[in-house]
This record gives sequence, C-alpha cells and structure tokens, in this order.
Amino acid sequence: MTADTRAATNQAPPLVDHNTVTSDLALVEAVTRHASAEVVEDIAEVGAVAGSAEAREHGRLANRHEPELEPYDRYGNRIDEVRFHPSWHWLMERGVGYGLQAAPWTTDAPHPHVRRAAAFFAWSQTEPGHGCPLSMTYAAIPALRADDALAKEWTPKLAATVYDPGLRQVGAKLGALAGMGMTEKQGGSDVRANHTTATPTSVDGEYTLDGHKWFTSAPMNDVFLVLAQAADGLTCFLLPRVLPDGSRNRLDVVRLKDKLGNRSNASSELEMRGTWAQRLGDEGRGVRTIIEMVAATRLDCVLGSASLMRRALAEASWHVAHRSAFGGLLADKPLMQNVVADLAVESEAATVLGLRLAAAVDRADDPHEAALRRIALPLAKFWVCKRTPMMVAEALECLGGNGFVEDSGMPLLFRESPLNSIWEGSGNVNALDVLRALSREPEALNAWLVEVGRARGEDPRLDRAIESVLESLADTSELEVGARRLAGRMAACLQGALLVQHSPAAVADAFCATRLGTEYGGTLGTLPRGSDLASLVARATPVVES
Ligand SMILES: Cc1cc2nc3c(=O)[nH]c(=O)nc-3n(C[C@H](O)[C@H](O)[C@H](O)COP(=O)(O)OP(=O)(O)OC[C@H]3O[C@@H](n4cnc5c(N)ncnc54)[C@H](O)[C@@H]3O)c2cc1C
Repeated sequence: MTADTRAATNQAPPLVDHNTVTSDLALVEAVTRHASAEVVEDIAEVGAVAGSAEAREHGRLANRHEPELEPYDRYGNRIDEVRFHPSWHWLMERGVGYGLQAAPWTTDAPHPHVRRAAAFFAWSQTEPGHGCPLSMTYAAIPALRADDALAKEWTPKLAATVYDPGLRQVGAKLGALAGMGMTEKQGGSDVRANHTTATPTSVDGEYTLDGHKWFTSAPMNDVFLVLAQAADGLTCFLLPRVLPDGSRNRLDVVRLKDKLGNRSNASSELEMRGTWAQRLGDEGRGVRTIIEMVAATRLDCVLGSASLMRRALAEASWHVAHRSAFGGLLADKPLMQNVVADLAVESEAATVLGLRLAAAVDRADDPHEAALRRIALPLAKFWVCKRTPMMVAEALECLGGNGFVEDSGMPLLFRESPLNSIWEGSGNVNALDVLRALSREPEALNAWLVEVGRARGEDPRLDRAIESVLESLADTSELEVGARRLAGRMAACLQGALLVQHSPAAVADAFCATRLGTEYGGTLGTLPRGSDLASLVARATPVVES
C-alpha cells in the first residue's frame, strides 16, 4: 500500500473554542473563593472569546505583523506615531472593553480586583503583548492619587471601557491609556541615577523635561508617569503626549526595540527636549509616588506569567490527549502523565497565588492584607516569573517538534516567558526588596506568618519548610547573598499553604513533596511514585464545549 502523503494523521486538533475561564478549575475555584460564583459567570464571556479560533488568530497576526515607527509624516513633520496591525486593535478593543485597564478602581461591582485579575489572566491567553498597555493603565491610578486634580482629570478616561486610539487632547477622547518611563540608558533598577532633568516653568506644578528614556513601552499611549531630577531630587511627573491646547508635546520616539518576545507590543527609546510635564507628588518623592504604579504592575507580572503557564499547560495536556505513540495515547503513558501532572501543579500554584494577591488589593484597607501585599508581591514576582520559562519550555516539549514550530503558538509563549521576570524589578531586585520589607516593616513578616500559619499542621513538609525559613532569618550574617533562596522558599511556602487549604489533595501533596520536601528530581516530570497523576492530568486538560 502506498502512503497517502496528503493526509495528516495522528495530529492533535487545534485547541480552539474552549473557555479559558470555565475550563480552568483552579481559576474557577480561586475566583469563587475570593469573590463569588457570580463573578465566574460574569467573566465567562471573556473566557469564551479568549479561547475562540478568531481570538487566537488575532493573537497570531498581531505578533506576525509587528508595530512600525513612523517618525515623520510625508511632508517631513515629526509625528512620532506607531502603526499597529488591525489585530492589535481588535485585541485592545476587547481588553479595554472588558475593563482590564483601570476600570476596577472606579466600579461599584463587588470584588473588582479579583474579577479583573481573573479576566486578565483568562484574556491574556489570547496573546500576552497587549497586556502591557492594559497593565500600565491599571497600575497608573494608585500613583495618580498623589494629586487630586490630576487624578480627577485622568481617572475617568483611564477607567472608561472604550478603546479610543489616536493622539488627541484627553478631553476629546472617550478613553485613554497610560504608560511609564523610568528606565534610562545608564540604569533601570537604580532609578535614583536617572539623568533626565526637570525645570519648573513659571506656572505652579508645571515643568519642562530634558533627557531620555531607554525603555518606554506602548509609546502610543496618551500619558506617561516618568521620573526626572528636580531641584529637590528625583520626582514623578505626568507627561501627556498631546498638550492641553491640542498640539503635540515634544516626545521624540528615537526607535522601537527589536525584542526577543512581546513583539506585538512596541517598546521605545524616547528623547525629551523642553517637554511639558506636570509634577505628580512632591519634589524628591518620585520613587515613593511611582512605587504605587510599580506595585500594581508587579501583580500583573505574576498574573501574566501564571496566564502564560496556564496557556502552555492547556496546549500540552490537549496535545497529549490526542496524539499517540508506541501504540497508545501519550496521555496514557505513565512518564508523560508525570510531566503533564507536574506542569499542572506548577500552573495551579501560580494561579492560586496570583488570585490571592488580587484579593489583597480588594481588601486594601485591612492592615493584614496591606502588609501581606507588601511582602507577597515581590516574593511572588520573583518566584512565579522566574519559574515560567522552565515551565513553558517543558510544556513546549510535550508537543515534540510541533511545539518548536510557530504554528503551534508555543514559540510565542516561550519567547514571552522571561519578560515578566525582567520588567518592573528583575529577579535580584525583587529578592532584595523582600529583604527590605523584612528589615524595615515587621508587620510584613508577621503577615506572611499569619498566612502560612493558616495551613500549619496540615502537611509536615510545609511545616518543616516554614521552620527552615524562620531559622534562616535568625542568621542575619549573609542574608543578601541568599536573598533568592529565601524569597523562593517563602513564596513556595505561601503557595503550599494555599494549595493545602484549597486545592485537591493530589495537587497539594505533589507540590509539598517536590517544592517543599526532599523529593525534587531536578526537573519537571519527576513527581514521586504514588502521586495521583491521572487525576492531576484530568483536572488540567481543557474541555471543549461542542
Ligand atoms: C520588553 C520590555 C519592556 C519594558 N518596558 C519598560 C517601560 O515601559 N518603562 C520602563 O521604565 N522600563 C521598561 N523596561 C525596562 C525594565 O524595567 C528594566 O530593563 C529593568 O528594570 C532592569 O533594568 P536594566 O535593564 O537597566 O538592568 P540593570 O538595572 O542594569 O540590572 C542588570 C541586572 O543586575 C541585577 N541587579 C541590579 N541591582 C542589583 C543588586 N543591587 N544586586 C544584585 N543584582 C542587581 C538586576 O536584577 C539585573 O539582573 C522594559 C524592559 C523590557 C525588557
């Protein structure tokens, strides 16, 4: 018999028309726990659209056709515009429409931040790049509160669920988007070394800025919070792209970055010469002011990485449920079950921690929640983002060679996977921030202890891990060199405590054995014998509604 070379057999069908909310049990349970079943119902539409073939295709196209800088118009006038593929606008229109930008800060709906976090997590599975302007707009509001008048002017536009692209004066727009400019050529972590200078004009609160920014994403956004040196030190400024009189502010987009991933999104280098800006907060309090924005974007780094993991897991578990080798489905092979089960444990641990942090934002007035956020955000940012590339690489391998090919969507996830660990404080910076919280804010350690203490006595491996953290804290001699080790351990304890209390025993048991106990086998797919692999795989595999 001659082989039919035109037929493609034993290929998994594309994972489309599945609901990224309702088919994700870990997400559904976390949202129900921190908000309600009604919130799950409310955001189910986001999940249905996110998992549709149409959305997947827009995600692919937005990355295939990258944004392009147009510095000049045809006559030679500087315009500094960035042109995006229509698929980018399709994604943005929905992301804004679902209220994934600043809407949670102004809505009366209950549990707005959990609702938004879950929807952001589910929607980002379409394509992660456009999450950047959505996140920055979400994060700008807490910083804007440093100035009542500016908050009053900008908040309604940033929270409006209307996507209204194009450079126009804010009053003439139905909705606006925000970005941030901290990083300069000479340094991003150490922003106190910023060179950009700010000179007051004759009008109170107005300045002109001179200098550059080395990494400012989404330069087509309407307004940026930037840091610059004023007479009394580093200060935060609000810099609109269009001036109140409707003319363009001088903000030269020098070039767009040619990035490893995040290619649908534009990240730019900017220059400012006499650029008009308004002071946000007091002179010399720049870091204090913008740190509110940084904290909110760090939450989105955790959620974005958890979302990448979930998408990767969904693709891997789907593939092995449909692909056969050596006479049987891959999903039935014990060793593949171990790999997918281990991916599922990692994904669920990231999901529950991300949603727990969002719940802390909803309860920001509660001192325990505020203190928990202070320490758990850098912990989670360090740990979850750091583990994402390894996890996504393993998921990619479940698809074999197909996973290395662009059509599968896995290379896009892989290229994106290191980003959240770099942005908004790289791994070391977040680990060091944990030390700062521990040394300066005793209530932060207390909040961590209360939180992990809720699961004490439930699993001896978790109990021992908590003890070992306390022992390492008692020895203050070399804390800095061990900051990553400590942050990772504390984050894993938090995840373990959440899983032990709220997830099926199979998930919690596998997590405690390998992330907290002594059973770690050096790579994913090494869960110990006796782990309930079949139930872990079944829980992770997306269900497609026919
Ligand atoms: C895709 C993308 C988009 C971005 N968008 C924006 C944006 O919109 N706005 C913006 O302002 N920035 C943006 N950034 C910049 C980003 O925030 C910085 O790259 C990041 O903060 C690190 O700064 P840096 O690149 O100057 O590295 P550096 O600060 O030079 O750090 C280099 C390395 O040294 C480590 N390090 C630093 N200090 C210490 C220390 N004390 N001890 C031990 N290790 C240390 C860091 O962890 C890092 O690994 C973006 C970056 C990327 C990749």
